[in-house]
Parts: sequence; C-alpha cells; structure tokens
Amino acid sequence: MKKNSGFHTRLIHAGHKKDPLGSVTTPIYQTSTFEFENAQHGADCFAGTSNGYIYTRLGNPTIRSLEDAVANLEGGFGGIAVASGMAAVTTMYMTFLSAGSHIVSSAAVYGASRTVLEKHFSRFGVEATFLDTSKLELIEAAIRPNTKVLYIETPANPTIAITDIAGCADIARKHNLKLVVDNTFCSPYLQRPLELGADVVLHSITKFINGHADVVGGVLVCKTEEDYKFMYNVMTSMGPNMDPHQAYLVSRGLKTLAIRMERAQENALKIAQWLENHPKIAWVLYPGLPSHPQHELAKQQMKGSGALMSFGVKGGFEAGRKLMDNVQLAVLAVSLGGIETLIQHPASMTHAKVAAEAKLAAGITDDMVRYSVGIEDAEDLIADLEQALDKA
Ligand SMILES: *Cc1c(COP(=O)(O)O)cnc(C)c1O
Repeated sequence: MKKNSGFHTRLIHAGHKKDPLGSVTTPIYQTSTFEFENAQHGADCFAGTSNGYIYTRLGNPTIRSLEDAVANLEGGFGGIAVASGMAAVTTMYMTFLSAGSHIVSSAAVYGASRTVLEKHFSRFGVEATFLDTSKLELIEAAIRPNTKVLYIETPANPTIAITDIAGCADIARKHNLKLVVDNTFCSPYLQRPLELGADVVLHSITKFINGHADVVGGVLVCKTEEDYKFMYNVMTSMGPNMDPHQAYLVSRGLKTLAIRMERAQENALKIAQWLENHPKIAWVLYPGLPSHPQHELAKQQMKGSGALMSFGVKGGFEAGRKLMDNVQLAVLAVSLGGIETLIQHPASMTHAKVAAEAKLAAGITDDMVRYSVGIEDAEDLIADLEQALDKA
C-alpha cells in the first residue's frame, strides 16, 4: 500500500503485514507469550534493541495490526488498543492527570467518562469541571493553573451538540493543555481531530469502528511519539489490554466502516427529515438538518452528518416510552453505531446516574429519545416509527 493511498484503500490494507505463510487476513495470535530465539534475543527484546514480541500484555501482532490501522486512519503516531471504550478513557486520564490536576470536559460527555472522574478520580485528588464546550468562551473561563486536559466529545452523547475542535486546539495550545477528543460518534471516516489540532483521539470501538454489536473495545491514538510512549507504558503497566481474538473481530468490522457509515447516514438524513415534519414530534437534533443550531460548524469539521440523532415526542417521557415500547424494527437497547437501528431513553438509561441538575444543564431532557440509525431500508425504519408514533 502506498503512503498516500485513499481512505478506503487504507481501511482495507493499513496495519496488515505480509504474512510468512501467505494468510491474506491478519492471523489471530492467540498466545499469552512468545518464544525467544535464544537468551540474547530475549535480553534484546526486553532492552528494546530488538522489536520482537515478548508477552501479550506488552504487545501482540493481531492487536498491533488493529492499532496500526486506526493510527493510520486517524493520522497519528501510534495506536493503543484496550479492552473497552472506558478503558481508553481511563488510560487517557491516568496518562495526563496526577493528584491535584484539573480537567475541563463537556457536560454531555459519555455518562461514565464523567462519573468515573466525579466518583473515583476525585479520590486521588483530581478536580473536574464540566461545561458546554460548544461555547468556547466558557472553556477559557474555566481553565485554572492546574488544568492539564481539555477533553471533548463532539457530537456529544446524546445532545448532538457540536464543539469546535480547531477552536479548542487554539485554547489548548495557549494554556499548554492536552486536547483529547472522543471521536466515537464520527469515526475517522467522518472526522479526524488530530488534523484539526488535537493531541489524542479515542474511541469506544464497540460502536462504529467494530460496527456489529458483538465486541466491546477501545482504542487511543496519540499524535506524538512522546505521548504515545508514555501512554503505552501506562497502559501496559495497568493492564486494561485488548485480547487478540477481540482485535481480530474489530479489524474485520473496521474494513467496512466507510460503506456502513455512508449507508447509515443516508438513512439518518431521510429519517430526521421525516421526523421533523411529523405532527407528534416536538423537536429533532441531527447535524445534517439546517435546524441544528451548529449545522454550519458540523459541515466544516465533519465529512458527513453521522447516524445519531435525538428527538422529543410531544407528550414528554410518557409518549416517548410508548414509542419505545411499540417500535418493532428498531431495537430497544443502549449502545450505538451498529448495523442495526437502536432506540433508547438517555435520562432513564445511559445517563440515569448523572445528577438531575447536571443532566438538565447538559441538555439531557426527560423527553429525549436517542436513535442510532443502522443500515436497514430507510422506508422500513420510517414505517416502524410511523406505526409506533400512532400509538404514542
Ligand atoms: C460507548 C461509549 C463510550 C464507552 O465505551 P465502552 O466501549 O462501552 O466502554 C465512551 N464514549 C462514547 C461516546 C460512547 O458512546
């Protein structure tokens, strides 16, 4: 594969090393440990003067293949695959935060990314401020002398609020902060934060990157060698590793990322337009609709509008509950970014543990329904919503 190959070519070939036995796909190296050629080779591997594999917690060819592929797609120095999206988030916190440091983050960041700071990292003296990062002036005002990280999620989950990544990069540079972006909602196909000035991008690969609702996993990509080496040491010391079989499945899913995303967002736009004109729908938030408050910014920093939307049914939570109980095609389940369409209620499900005032401040209203669009036929999904709305 040429260095300047297009995104689709890199999706298929990046990270794959020519296999000595001719395997076209990267084999599953389901082993915990690796045999050294002799005592000197073992010593060289530990000294880092030979790049042979040692032990799977410290590195494994199947996992490395996935890490190299995602790093290539995001345009960073190196990738680090871990057991879950939350393992990626906490590895990033452990890398850049110490006792007494402060982090500024999006109020509508993924629920557990917030509660792990409030409940657990606070036990180690880490301070956190959550605010609407779509308003850059609020970020500047929240920065303290001990602020180390600006951590944003855009579009945010589940409010679909967009944060200006390049604007955040300017602030981070000025105040010497690490800018980290949770790119789960977009995947590198739609948005590449490192190109816009971020230092680290992370994913729950449970979602679009794997895309088939059959694996939980996470990945981080660092822009610089220095950040990568330090973070890799944190990860291998703490041990939130990915498993080789898990890496194989994710590599398999990753290859079709672009065509899945294209199909899902084509469906999403049709459904969002249809919902917006439905008399029982109070509001729809989808970046591809001109009614989205940050439609222009979304067009600038995203290559497409993605497959996630949220909407409110007239009649509030009760009407929304009836809708969720009556859909027959969309699956009532949390998570997102798979090939099947999912529907859920953030206030009582994914964000139930976020305090009531914090939820409201983050824009997570009781009437909000989140809809993750899959790759079925848009007409069937619309018919499903129509019959369920008739009962709501
Ligand atoms: C799901 C998700 C996470 C957490 O990932 P897991 O794989 O469930 O641990 C983090 N951020 C976002 C935006 C997510 O959607």
